[in-house]
Amino acid sequence: MLNFARCNGSQTVGRRYFSLLRDKNYIGGEWVAASSGKTFQVTNPVNDKVIGIAQDSTPEDAEKAIKVASGSFKMWADLPAKEKGIKLKSLLKLVNTHSDDLAKLITAECGKPLAEAKAEVMYSAGYLEWYAEEAKRIYGEVLAPPNNTRELVVLKEPIGVVGFITPWNFPLAMLVRKAAAALAAGCVCVARPAEDTPFSALALAALVEKAGFPAGTFNVVTSSRSQAGPIGQALCASPQVAGISFTGSTAVGKILYQQCANTVKRLGLELGGNASYIIFPTADLSRAVQGVMGSKFRNAGQACVATNRVLVHESVFDKFSSMLATAVKTQLVSGDGFDPAVNQGPLINEQQFQKVDGIVKDAVSKGARVVSGGGIHPTLKGRFYQPTVLSNITEDMKIYNEEIFGPICPLYKFYSEDEAVTIANSTRRGLANYFYSNDYAQVWRVAKRLESGMVGVNEGLISAAEAPFGGVKESGFGREGSRHGVDDYVHTKYVCFGGLQN
Ligand code: NAP
Repeated sequence: MLNFARCNGSQTVGRRYFSLLRDKNYIGGEWVAASSGKTFQVTNPVNDKVIGIAQDSTPEDAEKAIKVASGSFKMWADLPAKEKGIKLKSLLKLVNTHSDDLAKLITAECGKPLAEAKAEVMYSAGYLEWYAEEAKRIYGEVLAPPNNTRELVVLKEPIGVVGFITPWNFPLAMLVRKAAAALAAGCVCVARPAEDTPFSALALAALVEKAGFPAGTFNVVTSSRSQAGPIGQALCASPQVAGISFTGSTAVGKILYQQCANTVKRLGLELGGNASYIIFPTADLSRAVQGVMGSKFRNAGQACVATNRVLVHESVFDKFSSMLATAVKTQLVSGDGFDPAVNQGPLINEQQFQKVDGIVKDAVSKGARVVSGGGIHPTLKGRFYQPTVLSNITEDMKIYNEEIFGPICPLYKFYSEDEAVTIANSTRRGLANYFYSNDYAQVWRVAKRLESGMVGVNEGLISAAEAPFGGVKESGFGREGSRHGVDDYVHTKYVCFGGLQN
C-alpha cells in the first residue's frame, strides 16, 4: 500500500517504480497542497488500480498560481532570449534523460502502449528543442517610413501570464507544445491538466524545477473533474491572465471562448476533429492500409487527428476493405500497455467507453456491416473495445457525424473526386484530412480543396514540431509548433520614432 501522506517524490506503485510521481501542486517553485485539503485518486485505466493521489484544487489555488506567475513575469520576460533558450535546452536534456520514467507514467495514467508513450515523450522533446532554438528568432521589423523624419519599428512582446487547459489523450505532449512556445516567447504559465492524467504534467513540473527555471514561471494546479469548470472560469475571468490556450473538445472550447470575452483575452483553441481519409483509384493500397492503421488505431483511436471516416473509391473498395480487415485482425493486439506485445490500450474512462459502444450499436442497428471486430473485447476485462471496421455507413448514423475517439473505422464507398471532397468537407470540423493518390494533378487539386488546417498526402501521421498544428472551422484557431506557434504568446507593438531630421 502506498504511503500517501509521505509521497512527493519517487514512488513504487505495485511492482513499478515511478521516479517522477508527484502528488502536490507546483506553485511558485514549491510543492503545495490544495487549499481545500482535498485530494483525488488517479487510476490506471487498464485495471482501475490506484496509481497515486493528486490535489483536488479549487479556483483559490488557481488564483494563487496566477498571482505568483504574474510576479515572475517581468523577470522572465526580461531575460535575454539566449538565456531562455538555454533553460529550455536544460529541460530538453532532462526530458531525454528521463524519457523512460515519463513514458511509464503516461502509460500508467492514460493506458497507451509503452512504445507510443515513448513516442509521445520524443514528440514532446521535439517541441522543446524547436522552441529552445526559436526563442532567439522572435524577430521584430524595421519598416520603410513614409518620410525622413521618422523611423518605424515593430516589436514582439510577450503577452504575460497564460493559462493552459490540457486533455488526457496526450498528457505530456499537449502541455509541452504550449509551454515550450510560451516560455520561449517570455510568457509564464499556469496549467490545469485533466483529472484522468495529472501526473505527466506534475512530472514535467518536477523536471522544470530540476532545470532551474525561476520560481513562478511554470505552475501546475491539479483538480478533479468537478473543479475543471470553476478553475477554467477563474483562469478566463482573471485580468492578470493575458491568454488561454486550450486543447480539448469543441464543446468546452466554446464555453471558454465565451468566458474569455469579458476580459478580451488571447485565445488558442485546439479542438476536436473529424478527419476523412480518402483512397483514390491510383493509391498505393498497401501504403494506404498501413497509413490508416497508424492514423486510426494509434492510442486506440483517441487522438484529435485520428481518421474518423475512410472514404474509398468504388473501384478499389472491396480490395482495400479486405486488406484492412486482415491488417486489423493480424496486427492489433489489445491489453496492458506495459506488455511489449500490446499496441491497443483501453479506452480512457467509462464515459468514453459507453460513447464508443453506443456509436457502434447505433450504426449496426441502422444497417452497418461489421467487417471486423464490432463490440466489447470478448476476453479482456475492463474498457477494451475490439478494433472494428464497419461498412455500409449512411448519413443518419451517429458515426457519420460524430468524432468517434475510439478504435472504430467506418468505410464509405464513393464514385467521384467531387463526391469525396464534398463528403470530407461536409462537417463543421476542420482539423486534419488525409488522402492517398498517385495522380499528380489530383494531389495538388484535392490538397487545396480540403477544408482543414492540415492535410496528409500519402501520409497518415503528419504532426511535427517543425510544422504548424491547428484547425479551421469548429476545430479551433491558433497554431502550435513551427515559427507560428509563438504568435499566440506575443503582442505586436508598433513604435514610431519621430523628429529625426533637422
Ligand atoms: P474535454 O472534455 O474538452 O477536456 C479537455 C480539458 O478541459 C480537460 O482538462 C478537462 O478536464 C477540461 N474541462 C472540461 N470541462 C471544462 C470546463 N467547463 N472549463 C474548463 N476546463 C474544462 O476533452 P476530452 O474529451 O478530455 O479530450 C478529447 C477532445 O480533445 C477531443 O475532442 C479531441 O479531438 C480534442 N483534442 C484536440 C487536440 C488538438 O490539438 N486539436 C488534441 C488532443 C485532443 P477533465 O478531463 O478533468 O474533465
